[in-house]
Amino acid sequence: MTEKVLIVGGGIVGLSCAHYLCDAGYSVTVIDRATIGGACSYANCGYICPSHVLPLTEPGMVKMAIKSMFKRHSPFKVKPRFDLDLLRFMVGFARRCNTRDMIAGGHALQPLLNASMAEYRKLVQHPEIECEWTEGGMLYVFKTQQAMDHFGEMDALVAREFGLPAKKLDGRQLREKEPALKEGLLGGYFYDCDATLRGRKLHASWKNWLETRGVQFIEQCEARILHRDGTGPGAKLRSIETSGAGGKHAADHFVFALGAWSPKLQKQLGCRIPVQPGKGYSITMDRPDPCPKQSMLFPETRVGVTPFEDAYRLGSMMEFVGYDDSIKPERIGLLRKGAEPYLQAPHTPRVHEEWTGWRPMTPDTLPIIGRVPRCPNAYLATGHNMIGQTLGPVTGRLITELITGSKTILDVKPYAVERF
Ligand SMILES: Cc1cc2nc3c(=O)[nH]c(=O)nc-3n(C[C@H](O)[C@H](O)[C@H](O)COP(=O)(O)OP(=O)(O)OC[C@H]3O[C@@H](n4cnc5c(N)ncnc54)[C@H](O)[C@@H]3O)c2cc1C
Repeated sequence: MTEKVLIVGGGIVGLSCAHYLCDAGYSVTVIDRATIGGACSYANCGYICPSHVLPLTEPGMVKMAIKSMFKRHSPFKVKPRFDLDLLRFMVGFARRCNTRDMIAGGHALQPLLNASMAEYRKLVQHPEIECEWTEGGMLYVFKTQQAMDHFGEMDALVAREFGLPAKKLDGRQLREKEPALKEGLLGGYFYDCDATLRGRKLHASWKNWLETRGVQFIEQCEARILHRDGTGPGAKLRSIETSGAGGKHAADHFVFALGAWSPKLQKQLGCRIPVQPGKGYSITMDRPDPCPKQSMLFPETRVGVTPFEDAYRLGSMMEFVGYDDSIKPERIGLLRKGAEPYLQAPHTPRVHEEWTGWRPMTPDTLPIIGRVPRCPNAYLATGHNMIGQTLGPVTGRLITELITGSKTILDVKPYAVERF
């Protein structure tokens, strides 16, 4: 008899799990408390970025974070409050901000990044998938010597440790590479290994395709109460009570791809999931003239630029403000301002969408992929931080291999929740 898998959460990670589990012959249902692909995966920058090999735990990050907390217009923000989980998260993060841990984290991330890129390359070959896939690389642009020198040091480290050198460009080469940039910028670094896609299109076309292959999607259906076989360690999960359609959902295996909501079910799952919502914003508008042809990051203002076929997006910010989904005009204003020093036409008046999403952040900025410790038929696929769009496919593949019991394409130990 065909075994059933219930996937809770239909972001890029849940969709990816559905794809590989469907390929492996399971009967798959995906439930989501809201809409499929409608949360953090909806309007992110769309970078598929093997170049992002270094975790965020850079030396000096804590100093930078503390400094920026006192600046009104900083892209980094923490809402001061008493929250033990946030405090633990911050301490855990701070503890890892050193070169040794950062490099170790990079060695854990790189195989995931490369494997996911390989999965994407296969996926986008399918005629059913539409996502504006472009393998155009990623350009980092600088105005100041200090920022460029700092990036240069990181680039040298990435080249040495991970065999991933960027091409260094002076101001003239920068403008040749991207004519939409202003004149007079100092220079940049170009990584040719990255790609860009449009998440909203990917998720819609992928969902449609999976439906034709028998995957069931149920929206407005929130997992609330988990029912186990018994109370002891090792008791299997049997069913989940939900809001909305369906009531109770039974299955043989359960995948929790809850993104930033993951801690909400941690008590019932019986393990601590130290995920914090890291709020970011994007604004999508008409294409400016000249429109960048190249995805770009401006590290000095921390703004990312993504050109699409019929639109143009700026994205950034990292706020630890709990589950607050308000969109403050001054934060959107900061995105526009952050692009102004670099682009001839940094924004356009006709806005398609202002958006915010909660990144599922972990203290070591590595994802959580693996079995729930004391529940043999439940799996966690979460904590993808700033690169969940990139890491979706490899996560789906690994979760499927864990469920089928086959050899995983890479060692999953570094991503186990037990590391916390
Ligand atoms: C501004 C910004 C830019 C970004 N740019 C990039 C980028 O360029 N490249 C990249 O790789 N990553 C990027 N990211 C990060 C990326 O968007 C996230 O890492 C990724 O979307 C996380 O995917 P997910 O499926 O885990 O979470 P989500 O997309 O948030 O999905 C989780 C789903 O679970 C559902 N859910 C939660 N609780 C329940 C429940 N109890 N029952 C049922 N359903 C539930 C939610 O409704 C949601 O749909 C960016 C993020 C932001 C904010």
